[in-house]
Parts: sequence; C-alpha cells; structure tokens
Amino acid sequence: MTHSSYNPYKIAQYQFDKVADLLELDDGVRQLLRQPMREYHFSIPVRMDDGTVRVFNGFRVQHNDARGPAKGGIRFHPMETVDTVRALSMWMTWKCAVVDIPLGGGKGGVICDPHQLSMREQEQICRGWVRQIAKNIGPWSDVPAPDVMTDGQHMLWMLDEFETIHGGRFPGFITGKPLGNGGSQGRTEATGYGVVYVLVTALDEMGIALDKTTASIQGFGNVAQHAARLYTQLGGKVLAISCWDQNDMTSYTYRKKSGVNVIELQDIADKFGTIDKKRAADLGYELLPGDAWLEQDVDILIPAALESQIHRDNVENIAPGVKVVAEGANGPTTPEADEVLHQRNILTLPDFLTNAGGVTCSYFEQVQCNTNYFWDKNEVLQKLEKYMTSAYIAVGDVARRQKISMRDAAYVIAINRVAKAVQARGWA
Ligand code: GLU
Repeated sequence: MTHSSYNPYKIAQYQFDKVADLLELDDGVRQLLRQPMREYHFSIPVRMDDGTVRVFNGFRVQHNDARGPAKGGIRFHPMETVDTVRALSMWMTWKCAVVDIPLGGGKGGVICDPHQLSMREQEQICRGWVRQIAKNIGPWSDVPAPDVMTDGQHMLWMLDEFETIHGGRFPGFITGKPLGNGGSQGRTEATGYGVVYVLVTALDEMGIALDKTTASIQGFGNVAQHAARLYTQLGGKVLAISCWDQNDMTSYTYRKKSGVNVIELQDIADKFGTIDKKRAADLGYELLPGDAWLEQDVDILIPAALESQIHRDNVENIAPGVKVVAEGANGPTTPEADEVLHQRNILTLPDFLTNAGGVTCSYFEQVQCNTNYFWDKNEVLQKLEKYMTSAYIAVGDVARRQKISMRDAAYVIAINRVAKAVQARGWA
C-alpha cells in the first residue's frame, strides 16, 4: 500500500526544514532535530514452527528525548524500511510536544508479515526484539507501544521478556498493554476517538453540524475502526471504507450509499482489518477499487492506513465537495498533495496532532501504572478529549495569527517546545 516512490524520512525532513526556516531556528538545534539522535539495527533469529531458523530485521530509532523518554510504537510490516521508522520517530517527537506530554519521540519496527506467522512465531519475534535492545530501552529512556499490525498481546510478550531480563516488574516499560495487565481503559479506542475529537472541534469552528456530514475512510485497522465507530455514533454517515485484502494482495473500497454499518463490517473482518468480500457483498456493499475511497463525494476524508497515500498522482481525484481531510495515519499526505489541498481550501487536520490520542492515552497509562491506581473509562476519555481539544485550539490560533496551514502551525508549536528543552539542557 505504501507508495514506494516516496521516502517518508525525506518528507519529514522537508516539513521540518520548512518550519525551521520560518522560525529562523538556531543552526545547532536544527542540525540536532532534523535527524534521530540514536538508532539501533539488529537481527532477530527465530526458530519457526517448521523447525528452520529465520532471521528478521528489527529497528529502534530514538529521535529526541529532551522532553522525556522516547515514546512510540513498534510496527510489523513486510515493507518496513529504516527510513520509514526514522520519519515516524521524528513525527512522534512533534506529536508528544504538540499535545504537551512529557515524552520524546521514538519508533520501532520489524520487517515481517504477521499474516504469514503463527502466534508462536510472533511471540518469538517480540521476545527476540526485546532481547536485542533491552539495555537501550526502558521506562526511564524509551517506551514502546502498539502500531501497525501489533496489539496488546505483542506488548505483553515484550513486557514479560523485558521483566525477565531485568528481574522485576516494570509496567511503565511499554504501553498499550491489555486490561488487567497494566493497560488503560480506552487505550484501544484512543487514537480513533482522538481523530474524531479533533474533527468535532474543527467542524464546530467551521459551523458545520457533524450529524449532517458524510465521510470516506481509508483503512480498517484499529484507528479507522474506532474513528468510524465514534463518528457514526455522533450521527455522521460513513459512505465508504477501503481496506487491504490479504488474499488478493490489493485493497478494495466497500461502499454503501445508505451508510456503512461499522459494527457489521467489524464482524466480517479478520484481526488485521481485511473485510470478507463475499459476506460484504451479501450485506449489500458495493466493491470498488482501492483508491475509490478518495474519490467519493463526501465532506470528510479520513486516511487511516499508511503513509504517502494521498500524493500528486491521485490528489486531483478528490471530489469538489470535500471540506476536511482528517489524518488518522502517520504521514498519509505527501508535501505536493498537501499544497494542492491547501490551494483548494480543504482543511487538513495534520497527522501528528490529529492522531495524538493514542500516545496521549499511553501517557495516561504510564501515569496510572506509576501510581498503581486505574481510572474508569469515562475519566480516561474525558481527559483525552480535553488534551486533544486544547491542542487543536492552540494550533488553530497559531495558524490564524501567522496565516499558515494547520500542519505548519502544529510544527511551530512542537518545534518551539522541543528546541526550548534542547537548549535549556545545553545540548545545542
Ligand atoms: N503508535 C501510536 C502512534 O503512532 C502510539 C504511540 C504510543 O502510544 O507510544 O502515535
């Protein structure tokens, strides 16, 4: 699904340089912030179910930890590259800074396809990943979390391995843990819900009633599913959802003009978010090509899959009526497409602000683990909404005052905060 001709790391640096120029950022700070501070590349040998040994490539990149321990997910993906992980680690730094939580940015990955791996093999990859990096991560330095194709079970295996190595209980080592094993209420929903909290505030400011809007969504993983659920609960109508089909190795768009029933689609999707084509057809869904999600005549587009999905070759296919693009994924829009959206006056709610709900709830999870007192779901979601809404309002203020895009405004706030921390520590 990744558009192979785009390098996310180059894009992340381009976005950073643009705002660093605007801020006339000190040269030393700029040098430090436009690349990761540390990165680890390692091999993970795994005894497969058939008795053979396969070696997987793993990464952890720590972009910046001036404001607190590095924080960010671990992705399992067959097309993972170190440049993707580098970009994602940078975006994590800005994400934590823009919502003002005391964490830095990091990201990890393993080149593998969980569709092709048994649960036991996945467990071995998780434990092997931790064994290779256990000395360089931890609650005090770098805290992983779930991301593409990883979930609470993977986090728990990783925690167990880390605790075995270090001898003790360290629930703050990792977030996104299952409930009852140090996880927080609302963590699974948090990223998708956060997207909708930001969207609600944006629509409010635009004077648009959410329950009169329609949306089209790319992706049907954790973020997309929960964004779609809350958006429809609030009265919005999802017309189309596109998702990857593992059997056909391509993506399809599922459309129902009367409105998608998210729960019904969840029932016929596997755990990676692949919807069962035949059963969808029986339920009255039209099957369209993968890119069709982008071409729907809707008010809102929510890219919630992978990076570089809206690019120069398809951005012109966005229907004239689209008013908002709410970026649930990390890096879904390339700079050229971003420029086109800006010129067409489509409000782009930038990824590292819009999808910050996950890491914000991860921060709540750490707080709860550290105090060993767990909040109920309402309390978590109320706090989450407050963080997301205030971050959105602050970014909107800067955008209006400085007449810049929401993305650039989010960068202005985030870079200023991180630069201040870096300078105060005397690093640059
Ligand atoms: N993987 C999520 C993200 O991209 C969450 C990271 C975290 O909770 O640390 O924001």
